[in-house]
Amino acid sequence: MTRILLSLTIVLAVAAAVGVWQRHRIIVPLATTGEPVPAVKTAATIEDGEPFGEDAYFVVVKIDELTYAIAEPRSWANNFNYLLIGENRALLFDAGVGHYDIRPVVRSLTDLPLTFMPSHFHYDHTGQGEWERIAIVDVPHLREQAVGDTLALSWEQHMGSAEAVAAPIWTVGEWIKPGSVMDLGGRELVLLYTPGHTDNSVSLYDKQRQMMFTGDFITASGVVTAFLPKANLGDFLQSANKVLNETETRPETRFRGAHSDDKGTIPNLERMYVKDVRDTLERIKSGEAKPMGVYPVNYTINESMVFVAEPPFLQDWTPTYPDGHEVHQHGRQE
Ligand SMILES: [Zn+2]
Ligand SMILES: [Zn+2]
Repeated sequence: MTRILLSLTIVLAVAAAVGVWQRHRIIVPLATTGEPVPAVKTAATIEDGEPFGEDAYFVVVKIDELTYAIAEPRSWANNFNYLLIGENRALLFDAGVGHYDIRPVVRSLTDLPLTFMPSHFHYDHTGQGEWERIAIVDVPHLREQAVGDTLALSWEQHMGSAEAVAAPIWTVGEWIKPGSVMDLGGRELVLLYTPGHTDNSVSLYDKQRQMMFTGDFITASGVVTAFLPKANLGDFLQSANKVLNETETRPETRFRGAHSDDKGTIPNLERMYVKDVRDTLERIKSGEAKPMGVYPVNYTINESMVFVAEPPFLQDWTPTYPDGHEVHQHGRQE
């Protein structure tokens, strides 16, 4: 009898361990249909936005002569993708889910050679189809994953199965070192490695414009998330501190994330919100902040934002790369 109980206990313990280990493989299919999510017919109006094309799926917002937000207000994700134009080339930072093709929108705004760079590899940012040139952050674990310049995204990185989108296999045209400058011709962008939401998340800092494009590191959706595969709260805290340090001498910097709410708000957060995220992470780490819910859990950041994470026993506070590692290089200080 004891032996049977012992065997049963072991079986249950193994099943629980496998369940925890494979939790994302179990939860993501349960939370999604595995079919493309149709665009809603009507969406909130985006102020000063110009609907594009017959179906008006995309809405173009001109931030300045050389900076455009290409919004997808009819998508569940309320994406904002950014087109940054220099004298020699243009850079598209994020491309949405890709059920609708963003390239004609880009081509209506510039004829320059185009580089695509994803803020991270989640399928709601990578778009679909081919790109002229792809730029990827040059960090050791991605170099290890790539075979030469061929980078095949894993399920954990992409998660496109949620909407029947195949994970892309990219040919990387440009590996960009964290802290280095991408020069578009008369326009410089500092690439910051800002993991936490995923371990491949990056932000682009246009110091001249005091504007940082932050992907899902901080968005205008009211939700900051770090519970999907390869999310890491230690990374997130490191990134928040890095971004605060980097912008210390430019406190007017605005943060333009990759998602918005469903009210047509254009992402444009003040630095104080990044501070609130950092302070919340400190309070989660110390145990002072109390989680709400079961899985994932919510923590209040401020009156307009929540932080969504895994429950404390699953939280990872050990950064992917320790402080001082070269991936944490800041942009040139002046
Ligand atoms: Zn994401
Ligand atoms: Zn996203």
